[in-house]
Amino acid sequence: MSRASLFIVSAPSGAGKSTLSNMAVDHFDGLEFSVSYTTRDPREGETDGVHYNFIDKARFDEMASSGGFVEYASVHGNNYGTGRSDLMALLDAGTDVLLDIDVQGAEQIRASMEGEGIFIFILPPSIYECGARLKKRGLDDDEAIEMRLKGAVAEISKCLDYEFIIINDDLKESFERLKSIVLAERTRRRRVESKVKEIFNLS
Ligand code: ADP
Ligand code: 5GP
Repeated sequence: MSRASLFIVSAPSGAGKSTLSNMAVDHFDGLEFSVSYTTRDPREGETDGVHYNFIDKARFDEMASSGGFVEYASVHGNNYGTGRSDLMALLDAGTDVLLDIDVQGAEQIRASMEGEGIFIFILPPSIYECGARLKKRGLDDDEAIEMRLKGAVAEISKCLDYEFIIINDDLKESFERLKSIVLAERTRRRRVESKVKEIFNLS
């Protein structure tokens, strides 16, 4: 088991997952995203290698068939995957990692990396509010929002598989909850053991 922690964050689109995940990565030293691979087109303001590694379908299929992903899934008609070597390099370097992935990907991590992940689900206060947030965000047209909301119902049905559930009504309070999960995880014996042994000369 790696000494670093792996946080898996899922949510239906519009719940506030990107907002909260970005706040956490900005707030904590030593907590980073693993940059996913996707076949979808970059949105305005997105940079290749920063927000995603944007690749074509042929390269995606090749990585998938050669075991290059720890998990991958098709979400809203596009493919997404977490690069195996990218994730392992971060964890092996002792960096905590936050994976912002869908419920199918989370299920694969749960199955293949048993005991490794801290699974967090972000819920909107209601489906209605989810739709309102997507509209306000202004990145998707009405048809895309409709599709995302249909997907939201299916995603929400998986939330009870997660260890932690944050109902993102008030953003500030939700962030406090997310921070408390990261801090509690970083307080575990396995995370502080070597430091304690060194300070107090324990064997
Ligand atoms: P997701 O990544 O889950 O699809 P985003 O983080 O992009 O969602 O959030 C969707 C929209 O809702 C954004 O415009 C964001 O600023 C807003 N938002 C996030 N959390 C809250 C909240 N607690 N209250 C109100 N608006 C929020
Ligand atoms: P978006 O296109 O809005 O950036 O992301 C759409 C959905 O794909 C989100 O739910 C996001 O969490 C998910 N996603 C992003 N990267 C990955 C990944 O590497 N694997 C999986 N399974 N889902 C991902």
